[in-house]
Amino acid sequence: MSTAGFNSQNGTGTGQTYTNGPSQNPVALQPPPGVGYGMNHQPAYNPMQAKVLGPPGPPLYASGPYQPVPPGPQSGSYPVAPAQPLLTRPQIGVLPSHTPPQSASPVPGPRLAQTTPPAQATPPPPAVTSTSYYTGPPAWQYAAPRGPAPNHVNPAVAAPPHMSHGSAQPPGPGAPPTSIHGYPQPAPPPMPLHTYQPNRPAYGPPPTAPPTMKPAAPPAGPPGTTGTPPPPKVDGDVAGNGPQAPNSYNHVDTRMAGAAQPGPPGRHLGHYPSLPPGYQNTSAPPPAPLHPALQAATQPYTQGPQPYQQQPGGPGPGPAQLSPSMAAMSLQSSTPEALRVVNLLQERNLLPSAPVPAPTPCLTQDLQKLNCSPEVFRCTLTSIPQTQSLLNKAKLPLGLLLHPFKDLSQLPVVTSSTIVRCRSCRTYINPFVSFLDQRRWKCNLCYRVNDVPEEFMYNPVSRSYGEPHKRPEVQNATIEFIAPSEYMLRPPQPAVYLFVLDVSHNAVETGYLSVFCQSLLDNINALPGDSRTKVGFITFDSTIHFYNLQEGLSQPQMLIVSDIEDIFLPTPDSLLVNLNECKELVQDLLKSLPNLFEKTMETQSALGSALQAAFKLLSPTGGRMSVFQTQLPNLGVGALQSREDPNQRASAKDVQHLSPATDFYKKLALDCSGQQVAVDLFLLSAQYCDLASLGCISRFSAGSVYYYPSYHHQHNPAQVERFQRDLKRYLTRKIGFEAVMRIRCTKGLSIHTFHGNFFVRSTDLLSLPNVNPDAGFAVQMSIEENLDDMQVVSFQAALLYTSSKGERRIRVHTMCLPVVSSLSDVFAGADVQAVTGLLACMAVDRSVTSSLSDARDAMTNAAIDSLSSYRQSVLTIQQPGLLAPACLRLFPLYILALLKQKAFRTGTSTRLDERVFAMYQLKYQPLAFAMLMIHPALYRVDDLSDEGALNISERTVPQPRVLQLSVEKLSREGAFLMDAGLVMYLWIGRNCHQNFLSQVLGVSSYAAVPEKLCFLPELDTAESQRTRALVSWLRDQRPFFPSLHIIRDESQLKPHFLQNMIEDRTESALSYYEFLLHLQQQISK
Ligand SMILES: [Zn+2]
Repeated sequence: MSTAGFNSQNGTGTGQTYTNGPSQNPVALQPPPGVGYGMNHQPAYNPMQAKVLGPPGPPLYASGPYQPVPPGPQSGSYPVAPAQPLLTRPQIGVLPSHTPPQSASPVPGPRLAQTTPPAQATPPPPAVTSTSYYTGPPAWQYAAPRGPAPNHVNPAVAAPPHMSHGSAQPPGPGAPPTSIHGYPQPAPPPMPLHTYQPNRPAYGPPPTAPPTMKPAAPPAGPPGTTGTPPPPKVDGDVAGNGPQAPNSYNHVDTRMAGAAQPGPPGRHLGHYPSLPPGYQNTSAPPPAPLHPALQAATQPYTQGPQPYQQQPGGPGPGPAQLSPSMAAMSLQSSTPEALRVVNLLQERNLLPSAPVPAPTPCLTQDLQKLNCSPEVFRCTLTSIPQTQSLLNKAKLPLGLLLHPFKDLSQLPVVTSSTIVRCRSCRTYINPFVSFLDQRRWKCNLCYRVNDVPEEFMYNPVSRSYGEPHKRPEVQNATIEFIAPSEYMLRPPQPAVYLFVLDVSHNAVETGYLSVFCQSLLDNINALPGDSRTKVGFITFDSTIHFYNLQEGLSQPQMLIVSDIEDIFLPTPDSLLVNLNECKELVQDLLKSLPNLFEKTMETQSALGSALQAAFKLLSPTGGRMSVFQTQLPNLGVGALQSREDPNQRASAKDVQHLSPATDFYKKLALDCSGQQVAVDLFLLSAQYCDLASLGCISRFSAGSVYYYPSYHHQHNPAQVERFQRDLKRYLTRKIGFEAVMRIRCTKGLSIHTFHGNFFVRSTDLLSLPNVNPDAGFAVQMSIEENLDDMQVVSFQAALLYTSSKGERRIRVHTMCLPVVSSLSDVFAGADVQAVTGLLACMAVDRSVTSSLSDARDAMTNAAIDSLSSYRQSVLTIQQPGLLAPACLRLFPLYILALLKQKAFRTGTSTRLDERVFAMYQLKYQPLAFAMLMIHPALYRVDDLSDEGALNISERTVPQPRVLQLSVEKLSREGAFLMDAGLVMYLWIGRNCHQNFLSQVLGVSSYAAVPEKLCFLPELDTAESQRTRALVSWLRDQRPFFPSLHIIRDESQLKPHFLQNMIEDRTESALSYYEFLLHLQQQISK
C-alpha cells in the first residue's frame, strides 16, 4: 500500500482514468513555453513519510509538493510533472498525434460508388469554403460582442499606427498551413437520391491512398498565451499623444449571473450529549440574496463601475503601490472569528443557515476591492504560507479552484492593438502590478520592470492622457481582450457542431432520439455561431451512417459505411454543411431521423468506428462533437465488455475497474485534442456502459460528460425532463473553440497537478479544444522558494479562445493573496470548501491510481492531520475535546460527507457507472456545484413564509434556513426539500399537514400522493407559488437541471434520500458524532 499522502499522485496517471497530470504528454510538441523567470526547485522536500498519528492506512496527508521535484528540463520553465518518478503504471505509448492508422484496403462499394471518385474517398478535409473561411476578421478588429457577425473591418480600429497590417491579412503570417490549404475543391459529385438501404451494403470506393491528413503538426491550435510571445510592440511607435482611439470597451454580459453568497456565520447552540429530536436551530439573519441576474445587456464600459478611486492629483501609484502599506496592516482584520476555538464534540449546530460564503482574504480594502471574484478564482488558503515548511505544518492542501469561463453578468471587454504584458514572464498587466512612475510598471509575478507603452498612457474611460493606472486593465481583476492577430496560428475557426447518434435498437427503445431531434429543432437558431457555422450528423449501430446535406439536394441523403474496420468518409465535403445555407435539409433530417430507425432490430454498437469517422470529419476545422450513446459499445474498435458484477457492489471492500479497460478512447481523445476537437458524451442507459473507459474520450479532449441512468421516455419522466433541459442549455450556452489556458503565479510558487477535463500540452498549458461556461478546474501548488520578502502574491489565469463569432479573445483573471508567516494565520485563512473540493479531486485520483480504501483513509487523515497540527502548534491552552478553528469547523463534516458520497462510499450498492460519474463530476464541476453534491442542502418547506424572502423579477422566493443532514431534523408533520445538486428530493412526512398536501401537491391526503411524482403541480395558491418559486430559484442557480422526486415515507427512493443524511449512522458508515470521536481518538494518540 502506498504510504504517501494524497500528493504523491501528482502528475501521475498515464492511462489512469482521472489523473490528468502533466507528465502524460504524448503530443507535447512545443517546448514548454518559456515562463521567463527562473525557478529553483527545492530539491529536498521531504514529504511527511512517517505517520505519527492517525489510523493505520496511508500516512499523514502532507500538504505541499509532497515529493522532491526533479529539476525541470529548463530552468526557465515550470518544473515538469513532479510525480513522474512515481508512476507505477505503464505509460501509454507515445501517440501519433494524428489519426489512427488508416489502411487503404479496398472497400467494396456496390452502391453509390460511381458517385465518389476514388480520390475523394481518401479523406481530404471537408470542403471548407475558403472564401467564407478566410474572410474571417483579423482578430484585432473589434466587433460588438452581441452585434452582427463581426466579419468586417472596422475602419476606426483598422489602422492603429503600429499595427502590423500584413499580419492581419488572411492567412495570417503565423498561420501554419492548415489542412484546409491547398486542397482543390472537389466538384460535387452527382448524388443519388435518398438511399436508405435495408440491407446496408458497404458504401463507396476504396480509398486509394493513405489519408492525407497532416502529420503530428505543431499544435494546431493557437499559441499558448505565452507560448509564442509576440514581441511586444510597445516602444514609442505612436507619435505625440496619439491615442488614436484604438480601444473600445464594452460590458458584455451573459446569463447566469454570479451569486455572491455571503451569509452569517453559523450559530453554535447545540451540544452533542443531549440531542432532543426536533431540536431547533436558532433563527439567523436572512441569507444574502443570490440574484440570478438573468437579463442580458450591453453597456458602454464607461458606464460601468469604477471601483478603484485613485486620489486626485495626478498619476499616483497604481493600486498595487498600496502594498507597502500592507506592512502596517496586521492580521487584525483576519477575523478573530476564523480562529475562534470550537469544540466540535460539544457544538452541534455548525452549519450556517445559508450557503457557506467564501472567506475574504486578509488584504487592504483597496486591494480586496479589486480582487477576483471567489466564484471565478479561489484558493484553498486565502493566506499563503511563507515557506513550504510552514505549509507542511498546516497539513492543508494548497491549490486553486477555477471557473474561468463562467457566465458573467458584467465583463469588461477591451480591444487594443497592444495588450500590455510583462516582457519577461508574459503576465498580463493587472490591478496588482505597481507603477513606479508614469512610464514604468513592475510585474507582480516576476518583478521585472516594464515600460508602459505609449498607447497605454491614454485612458479611454476618462479620455485623459497620462493615467495608465486608471486603464480598465488595471482596474479589473477579470477582463477580456479581443486579441490581435499575433495570438493566432491560423484564422479563427468557425463554429462547427457534429452530432453522433446511437440508433441501435436499444437507443430507439429509450426514446431519446426524438427528444434530441426536437430539442435541436427548437434551438437550432440559438446555436452559438455566425454565418460560417457548420453542422453535421453521423448515426451508427453496427454500421456508420453519414448524411449528405449539401445545398441543392431535395432531401438529405443517407450514406452507409459498413466496413467499420476501415472507416472513411464517403463524401467528405458535403457531410459538414453551412447551417444557414442548408438549414432546411438539416431540419428535414431532424424530423425524419426518429422514424428512420423506428423498427430497427440492430443491437450492436460500433461506437469506436463512429468516433473515428467523426474525428476525420472534424479534423480539418476543429469543433465540437456531441456523442449520444445508450449501451456498451460491442463491435469493432473500442469494443468493451462488462466489468461490473452487481453482486459485488455492496460487499466488496474495494472497488475495481475504476480505470479504463482500454486506451482506445484516451488515444482518440488526444488525437481530437491535437485537431481542436472536443467530444461531449451523453450517456443514456439502464445498463453498465463502462463510463470509466468511455469517459476518457471527453476527459482528455476537454469535453463534458452527461449521464442519465435508466433513461426511458416512458418509465422515467424525470430523466427525460432533465435531458431536455440539459440539452437546451448545452445547445445554447456560450462556447469557446481552440482554447488554451495558462495559469501563472508569483515567482516562488509552483503549479503542478491539474484537475478537470483537458489535456496538459506543456507543463502548465492546458489544451481545451472547447471551453464551456460550466466547466471547473483545480490545480495543486507548492512553494518552491521562500516568500519571505513578499507581502502579497498573485495568480493569473489566462484563457485564450475563439468565440463562436470567430473572434480570438483572451479572458484574464488575476487574484491577489497575502503571504503570512505564522501557522495561526495560515489556519485563519483556510477556505474549508475549497480545501474540501481540492481534496475530493485528489481522492478521485487516489482511488484510481491506488485504491478506494486508500483514498478514503487519506481523506480521513487529512482531517486528523490538520486538526492535530492546529492543536499542537496553534493552540496555546490545551483543553479537552476535538478542537478546530471556526474557519475549519465544517472540515470533519465535509470529509465525512465525502466518505459517504457516491464516488467514495463503500458498503452500499452503488453502480459502477454512477460512481465513476460522481468522480467525474467532483473533478469537473465548479466548486459551488460540487459542494452541493458533497453536502446537500436540506430545507423545511411546509411552513415557508415570505419573511426574509428574496424578490427577484417580481417573484418572491422564500429563504428557508439550511438544516443539518440528519433524520432528527425531519418531522412527520412536515415536508422537506433536499437539494443534492443533480437531484432534489421532496420528502413528505406521514402526517404532513393537510394544508401542504392540498395547497402544494393538490392531493387530498398523504395516501393520495402518487408514487412517482416528479413535478410540483401549478396551483393557484400562495403555498404552491412559494414552493415552486423556491425550487425553480434553486434550479436557476446552476447550469444543469436537477430532477425533483416527491417521495413519501415508503417510497422506493427513500433510501437515496436517506443516504444523504450524512450526520446519521448507517450500517456501514459512522455517524458524524462517531466520526468526531474517531478523529479525536487519533489526534490524542
Ligand atoms: Zn513578469
